[in-house]
Parts: sequence; C-alpha cells; structure tokens
Amino acid sequence: MPDRFETQSRKLLGRLRDIMASGDAGQARLDEIVRLIASSMRAEVCSIYLFRDVETLELCATEGLEQDAVHQTRMRLGEGLVGRVARTKRVVNTGDAPSSKGFRYMPETGEERYSSFCGIPVQRLGETMGVLVVQSLESREFTADEVYALEVVAMVLAEMNELGAFTGDGAALRARHQDPLMVRGTIGQEGAAGGNVYLHEPRVVVTNLVADDPDAEMARLREAVDTLRVSVDEMLTQTAAVNKDQKQVLEAYRMFANSRGWMKRMEADIAQGLSAEAAVEKEQSLARTRMGQADSYLRDRLHDLDDLSNRLLRILTGQGGNTTGDDMPENPVLVARNIGPGELLEYGKQLKGIILEEGSVGSHAAIVARAWAIPLVIRAEGIVAAALNGDPVLVDGEQGIVHLRPDDTVQAAFRDKIAMQAEAQVRYASIRDLPAQAKCGTVIALHMNAGLMADLPSLESSGAEGVGLFRTELQFLVRSQMPKRAELSALYARVMDAAQGRRVAFRTLDIGSDKVLTYMKPNDEPNPAMGWRAIRVGLEKPGVLRMQLQALIRAANGRPLSVMFPFVAQLEEYRMARAELDKAMAREKILGHPLPDTFEIGAMLETPSLAFAPDVFFEEVDFISIGGNDLKQFFFAADRENERVRRRYDTLNVSFITFLEQLIARCKQHNTPISFCGEDAGRPIEAVAFAALGLRSLSMRPASIGPVKHLLRRLNLDEVKQVMDDARARGDQSARGAISDYLRTQV
Ligand code: PEP
Ligand code: MG
Repeated sequence: MPDRFETQSRKLLGRLRDIMASGDAGQARLDEIVRLIASSMRAEVCSIYLFRDVETLELCATEGLEQDAVHQTRMRLGEGLVGRVARTKRVVNTGDAPSSKGFRYMPETGEERYSSFCGIPVQRLGETMGVLVVQSLESREFTADEVYALEVVAMVLAEMNELGAFTGDGAALRARHQDPLMVRGTIGQEGAAGGNVYLHEPRVVVTNLVADDPDAEMARLREAVDTLRVSVDEMLTQTAAVNKDQKQVLEAYRMFANSRGWMKRMEADIAQGLSAEAAVEKEQSLARTRMGQADSYLRDRLHDLDDLSNRLLRILTGQGGNTTGDDMPENPVLVARNIGPGELLEYGKQLKGIILEEGSVGSHAAIVARAWAIPLVIRAEGIVAAALNGDPVLVDGEQGIVHLRPDDTVQAAFRDKIAMQAEAQVRYASIRDLPAQAKCGTVIALHMNAGLMADLPSLESSGAEGVGLFRTELQFLVRSQMPKRAELSALYARVMDAAQGRRVAFRTLDIGSDKVLTYMKPNDEPNPAMGWRAIRVGLEKPGVLRMQLQALIRAANGRPLSVMFPFVAQLEEYRMARAELDKAMAREKILGHPLPDTFEIGAMLETPSLAFAPDVFFEEVDFISIGGNDLKQFFFAADRENERVRRRYDTLNVSFITFLEQLIARCKQHNTPISFCGEDAGRPIEAVAFAALGLRSLSMRPASIGPVKHLLRRLNLDEVKQVMDDARARGDQSARGAISDYLRTQV
C-alpha cells in the first residue's frame, strides 16, 4: 500500500506532467508549478531560482514572496542560503533560517517573516541548474519524507528545464543548450576546424518522467536490470581471459547490477511517481554529484555506476549508442569524455575535429589524432554535458579553445582563420616538390613521422623524403591482443611498398611510460617515464623484440632496412640490441629467407646520458635520432605529461641548444648521421634553430613539412646562428625572443 506521502507525491507529479503537456508559455508554467508545490507541501512559500549565467541565480517564480522580486532578485553562487545550496549541491533544511550560516536577507522579497527554509538543488546528471525553495512561517525542519518528495520534484523540474519547458515568451531565461559557450582546454593537435557535434556516447533523452502505474514501472525496471545483468555476465565471459583491468571494471559493474541498495532506491523513486527511466536518472545524478567530492578510488567506482546507468537507460528507452557511426552529422566533430585509439580508428579520418573532456597530450588517442592532423582539444571541462548532437562547434587547436554554438562574430573570425589556413595549404603545395633549401644554400632533409598504414599516403602529399620515425607501437596499441609475427611482417611489407623505395626508419616497440598495452601484465611503477620501458623491456623480455625483428627482416625481403631502438641510455644497451638483430639475421639466413640488401641500425637519443657515451658508440652506431620529447623532459626534469610543468622550459632555452650543439659536433667528428624526430622538429621556429645549429635532417608530422619548408627557404641559416650566438653571449635565457625578432625583419 502506498503511504500518504507517496500518494501525494504521485498526485503532484501527475499535475506537473499536465503542466508540461500544456501549451502554456514558460513563465506561466513556472508560476503554476510554484503554486502547486506550495499547496501540496502546505508551505506558505515556494520559489524557483534558476541560473542566469554560471555565477548568478535568479528568482524565476514564487508563490508567497513579493511578485515584484521575480526576475529582479539575483544572487551569486555561494551567496545566501540559496547560493549555498547551489554551490554545495546539498539540501539546506532549517527551522531557523535567519540564524543559519550564510543567511542573507533579500528585503525586496519580503521573506523576513518566514523562519523555516528548505532548499533543494535542481540538478541533472550532477550539474546544478537552480534551487527549489520552500519556506514557512512555522519554525520547523521539514521531515525526511517531505525532503525526499521535494527531491523527486526537483529532479522532474531539472528535466523539464532541460527539455526547454521554461523558455519562450515571458520567461527571462533561455533554454540551456542554446547559449554559446566557450571552453578553454589544452592543445592536443593544432589546426582549426568547424563542424557539428557528434557525441561518442549520446545522452539518453528521457521524455516520460512521470508514470501513473508504479507496478508497471517496477516491472519494467526489473526486466531491464535483468537484461543488464545478463549482458554484463556475457561481457565478463568474453573478456575474462584477455584483460585483467577490463575484468575488474566488469566485476564492479556486476556488483552494482546486483546491488540491492541501488535497486531499492530506484524502487522508492518509482513509488513516488517517477517513471523507471527517470528513477535511473535520479540515482545517476546523485552519483555524479558525489563524484565531484569523492577520492580517486571512489570516483572510479562512481564512474562505473555512471556507465552502468547509461546502459540501463539505453535498455529502457531503446536509444542506442554511437558505435556504428550511422547518424553522423555533416562535418562531424567528435565530443567524448575520453576515447581509446581503437574506437577512434573506427570513426576514421572523416572526423573534422575531436574534443575530449579528459585525455592527455601523450595519450594514444592524441597520437592518432596527431598522425591524422585532426585538430584536437583535450581537457575541455564540461563539454560533454553542454553539447548536444548536431550543435555547431568550432575547434581551435592552436589555442586549445572550443566554441560551442558560436555567435556570428566568433564564426566570422573563425572563417577567416580557416581561410588563411587554406591559403597557406595552397602555398605549401606549390613548394612540395622543391627542396628545403635555405638562402645560404644549405639543404635540410625533411622526413615525416608515421605509425599507421593510414599515414602513408601523406608521403606523397607532404613531399616528405621518407619516414624518419615509424612508431611501431601504434599497431600494438590499437589491438586487443598481441599481433602475430606474420601479421606484422605483412604490415611492414605494405609500409615499405607504399614508401616506394624511400627510407623508413622503423623504431622497435616503445612501450611503457604512458603507452600501456592492455594485454600485457600491468607494471605498477612509481615513475613509469623513468621506469621499465622501451628497449629496457625489449632486452629483458626479448620475445617480442625478436619477433618484431624477424618480421622486419621478412618484410624487407631483400630490400634495404632501417631499424632504430628507442630510449637507448648507454653504449651497452645499443650493443645488446644490435646483437639481437645480428642473431635474427643469422637465423633468417639459416631458414633461407633473403636478408636485407643493406641495413642501418640506429639509436634514439632520448636521455642526456647517451650524448656523453664513449667515442666508440658514435663509431658503432649507424645513425642517431634525437627523440626530443623524452630528451627535453629528462634534460629539464619536467614531465611531458604534466601540463603544469610541460611548457615551463623552452626548447630554445640556451642550455638546451648548447647541449644539442655539442652533440651535433660529436656526431660530426665521427661522421655519424644525426636527425631530430621529436614534435619540436615540426615547429617552424624550432626547426630553423635546429638547422642553424647544424642538423641536416628533421622528421615531423606530415602537416608540418609545408610550414617548415616555407620558412626555411626564406632564411639564411648563418644569420640565424649569429642571432642565437648573440642571445647566448648576452645571457638571454632563451633564444626564442631574438629569433622571433629576427624573423619579423625577414618576412
Ligand atoms: C621522442 O621522445 O621525442 C619521440 C619521438 O618518442 P615518443 O614516441 O616517445 O614521442
Ligand atoms: Mg620517446
């Protein structure tokens, strides 16, 4: 038997549904709602405050306070009791409001007569939209049942607001999801793109919030939860053998799916009059609020519960996820909390831009986006909640800014930016087949970095001379299990075919640090960037390295082969790695496979130690490639993944350029070819500085070849070198300012 509160609550929700269905304007609906709630709760006052902007709440409707105060009374987030509810996302329930902490009296409302106050956050999926307040003359706290009923009402109000029920004539507030929004994130991949939002996991839209028949809703919920349990069990049996981490997550899913507490709370919500899906969403919303306040372990678990709630909502509403990519808008810009490289590869190059709420510059997804030159902004906080499928959006990868639903001025400025980019592309295409020859006559070889088959067509379009760095780990990262030797060999052969005789420097597997293979035992290290990674793994557990070397020799099938080892920190490691290749050659010879016509074996210089290796290292190694991304982080002791320190030390810092200069001199002395293949090689000013220091070969993203060549061709490198020397002589901390000033006089 439903108790009195449940009956009352259901009646109230039923009336709210009628209001929602009415053709009334937004303000009329709000006015009607506050009247209804006040009478149903037997309170003298009921008011609704909604956010006017992110910082300001506005009284939008009231029963009991002065009507003149509506749309006049405003408070900042955190100000007064209402502001406190909004900021803390918690209920404030007191019988003596004036003596409560933070109380602030708004004279125009006439509220001084009311002693008791109960404020409930109006929130949807953890995001606060406003505050629902009831006040009464009598000094008493509202009961737990009353507060619960108000929470259910607040949830329905949030959904109504989301669906735009309070907008239109007379209402001062526009619907959320209509206003332009600028989000400042972090640069993941440069470039500018405009398009339409394509949510990786589209929000499920719940339109039937209120239900008349609680028994039917309970049955629907139970059936959906049963389906969910079965699907979680199925996922568990499928992945059990493969991946421990994933298994742990699924175990957590199972725990929640079987949780009596979760089920009980949703059943109680239904008893109050909510539909099954509204009940799921109410609990999901609560979990999201807690997420913001939880420690990292609990946050992960709440994340799991959030995912599970989404699955349950999809089952209940029949609305699917975006896994097929069928309903992609024109010029899709992918918006996601985070995404794995495999999923990103499935969407393919048709994406115009990518915006992630989480992610890091070195994440696998970022590497893929960079390889495809798709503008990427990461850490765009709040974008997933704010964006709707199909919303117009501009991605400014140069500055790490996203403009959602941009207004005309922003759009016009952006169009100019994109047009300038297009003009520049035409300029770069016109010099594609010309050498990167500076005015002083020096020619710099420009190569490209690659890692996926999809990168290879860029060899032709960018005018790169070859592939200076082929990151073989990408093939390992995008799979769910270790690739087989035959697969790798076929792939490497296709890469060499596509290169049509141009040099491809294959870097052997560089895993560890931020590159984690889900199918390999996780390695719990306090400092993975300085831990068991790259060649250290290859030498201690040589199985994969040997398999890869064999695959490379077979792929070459008699053609020239170029291999380099990542993260070599000392001579001995280079010797051991080279010995592995010699052994592999000998084995292949015995097996009757043709050996490469010629081969060169290089080392990536990514730790300062290798620059100080004994002379014989420079004699023995066939070539050196500077991995500036890692080298710089160890030179300055500044973590490349830590946004706080990543940009602290300039690549053109005089200490770093002097270090590079000395390294280049040692290579020259021993006739050891040296090139630079970190991200900095693709930045025009850095590239010019490297060339002036004596580097004659640079490897970069294909999209950077045009801009770098364009700048190099207009400069005299001797003059650039002189500018750098003067900066050092003056004691400048970085040569960047002096070089930039010089460039302004040249272009
Ligand atoms: C580097 O460190 O500069 C490099 C090219 O390797 P990674 O793949 O680690 O960026
Ligand atoms: Mg590296």
